[in-house]
Amino acid sequence: MVLPGLLCGLGLLCPGQGGGGVSASVAATCKTLGTLYPAEVLLPNTKSYETETTAHWASNAILPPGCILTPSTPKIASTMLHHLTTTSTPFSIRSGGHSNNPSFSSIQNGILLSLSSLRRITLSPETNTVLLDSGLRWGEVYSHLSPLGFTVAGGRAESVGVGGLSLGGGISFYAYTVGFGCDNIVGYLVLLPSSEIKEVTATSDPELFRALKGSGGRFLVVLAFRYRLIQIDDQAEGKVWGGMTYSTGLSIPGVLRETARFNAAGPVDEDSHLISTVGMVAGVVDIALTITVHTKLPGKGETPEVFKPFRKAQGLGTTTSALLGIPAKKLGPARIEEISDGQSPDFVYGKRQIMKQLTVSNPDEEYLSECVKVMKKEFFGLSAGKGAMVTLSFIPLGKVISKGRKQNVMGIENRDRLMSVHFNVIWDKERIDEEVYEAVDKAIGRLVEEAKGRGIWERWVYMNYAMFDQDVIASYGEEERGFLRGVERRVDPDGVWKRLVKGGFKISE
Ligand SMILES: Cc1cc2nc3c(=O)[nH]c(=O)nc-3n(C[C@H](O)[C@H](O)[C@H](O)COP(=O)(O)OP(=O)(O)OC[C@H]3O[C@@H](n4cnc5c(N)ncnc54)[C@H](O)[C@@H]3O)c2cc1C
Repeated sequence: MVLPGLLCGLGLLCPGQGGGGVSASVAATCKTLGTLYPAEVLLPNTKSYETETTAHWASNAILPPGCILTPSTPKIASTMLHHLTTTSTPFSIRSGGHSNNPSFSSIQNGILLSLSSLRRITLSPETNTVLLDSGLRWGEVYSHLSPLGFTVAGGRAESVGVGGLSLGGGISFYAYTVGFGCDNIVGYLVLLPSSEIKEVTATSDPELFRALKGSGGRFLVVLAFRYRLIQIDDQAEGKVWGGMTYSTGLSIPGVLRETARFNAAGPVDEDSHLISTVGMVAGVVDIALTITVHTKLPGKGETPEVFKPFRKAQGLGTTTSALLGIPAKKLGPARIEEISDGQSPDFVYGKRQIMKQLTVSNPDEEYLSECVKVMKKEFFGLSAGKGAMVTLSFIPLGKVISKGRKQNVMGIENRDRLMSVHFNVIWDKERIDEEVYEAVDKAIGRLVEEAKGRGIWERWVYMNYAMFDQDVIASYGEEERGFLRGVERRVDPDGVWKRLVKGGFKISE
């Protein structure tokens, strides 16, 4: 220990966790903040540091920080940020830790600002809004609101964080009626690079207000989001209709056909929501999974009309899920927290994972089948030989998200019947990371090429499903990128974020 101690003393490199060293300046900032806030600064070699460091959805996103700051109030968060910026300490911001991209919400040789202790839910029925702290998970939000007959346009998986999802857009079960989650945020409590705490609304700062809708928050910390409340149709029970259906490979052509039809129709029923997924295990594409939700309850024991063709295509879907060893989620009335509970299954939590996305406009069944063929070809080796599991998801986005309203910065006004398509790869061994990233790149490249050939490719990339090498902000178009650059310059005139926060999709270098 003499040499590391000496290097640290010389202001060079101090020993850290997991083989990662931290610079002496990072160690010094941790020490100062640890003295000021002993309960809210987690230091290496403690159980709480270990737990918080590894609290990521995907293990490839885990990096060992010099220490972790877990402010319990906005005021403490502000003081902590002041220390980070005045000491020029690199840092990363984390809410729910569901980004699969290494260094987006994790950091090596820097400090992790974890918002996990900010978890208040403050209901304001008089303004029909609820203020959600950034560190909350959607499951907690729904469990609090649905017994009261309310919900919000949040994530569809309970473990996802409020912070990251809200800043990247947010696709909810209500997307076809209310658009993106961020379109339903009426106020933000932010921490500026200057450490000032500020409330941002459409009237107090219209430019910054809009810039927060889809930009990923690349120039500040959002401490809390004020969401518009949605009244659940079934006020008494707080329930919607829905669940998950698994079926074997035989049903895949039928599921793809119905998915294309559902999307082409608009969808016809805006109270519905659909995610169709095809899965590949051990080199075989043999699972179809549909998540079908209807926010208005049908008659007792009935299936909403819009989903009947899917039931036909999937046959005895829920029985099949038992055969596959996956817990069945019975279709029927359920609270949103119950439906969202199955969307982030424990058996994939903590594995290595990556997603990559593209958007297409009004794809037909043939294009969706082509996507499955690409999946079979590009991932066969990884899946059959190296144990990777691959899923390919099709998400019809509905009309409302692109209805010619410039309320967010994603640049997708007046587009036609958009569908999001993304791969998610799950694997165990770090040594095949690069191979997986390359395969995902190649597969998405082929889907883009195929879509361009058919004239259905869309420029827009959805931030929340994007891989680190996708230029998400450029996909919003030059006008929106220029707008964001202007806001970035005003909010962060000294370029603090550009210097100190390395993760996230860049607005400008
Ligand atoms: C199982 C699963 C289910 C999902 N379901 C959905 C879904 O239904 N709908 C959907 O739209 N997306 C979904 N996603 C994608 C998800 O929205 C993104 O991964 C999102 O970034 C996760 O947010 P987080 O707070 O958990 O992540 P984090 O990893 O904590 O944060 C993601 C990014 O946002 C930044 N960030 C987070 N909070 C703040 C803040 N308060 N201020 C400034 N920057 C911040 C981080 O620095 C990081 O760059 C899902 C992902 C997974 C893994």
